Amino acid sequence: MQEPDLTTPDSKKAMDNVRSLLSFIGEDPTREGLLDTPARVVKAMHEHFWGYGADPYEPLQRTFSEVEGYDELVLLKDIEIHSHCEHHMVPFVGKAHVAYIPNGRVVGLSKLVRVVDIFSKRLQVQEKLTAQIANAINETLRPHGVAVIIQARHFCMCYRGVRQSGATTTTSKLHGSFLTNPASRMELFTLIGQGG
Ligand SMILES: [Zn+2]
Repeated sequence: MQEPDLTTPDSKKAMDNVRSLLSFIGEDPTREGLLDTPARVVKAMHEHFWGYGADPYEPLQRTFSEVEGYDELVLLKDIEIHSHCEHHMVPFVGKAHVAYIPNGRVVGLSKLVRVVDIFSKRLQVQEKLTAQIANAINETLRPHGVAVIIQARHFCMCYRGVRQSGATTTTSKLHGSFLTNPASRMELFTLIGQGG
């Protein structure tokens, strides 16, 4: 990932806006400890939201067909998620489990992680993130089934509003045989470790 160019008009405007926010909360943006804060915030934004500059369908283009006819479930568990909610622009963090049942073609496991990363590094709601990952895999690989399950803690729930610091949210999006075949679904949830 490239460092952002802080000398462009857009970057300067963004840094000015951070100074405005600092004033808004009652701070003095010119005091020593805050002088570099606008630049740091803009750099952090660049890191948190690089997903807008990447195509989530691109990593799924390179597939392999020489898998000796393997057509059973492939599950990638515990992919770390660091995203930001689009309502408050604060983090939500957790884990994604991505599973699919190949239909003649498989994709490198790191590519699945890449797809999760690209969608995560945008402003999100967890439900949308879950569906976007599942739909991208479904549309490109055309597998027999796709399942994406995300468990996450939302910081906006921890420190504001309802103040539920321990609450986790689980979302799932299923396609194909995970929807139509109870045995596939059972195998999936057993492998993930959530019972039947
Ligand atoms: Zn929120």
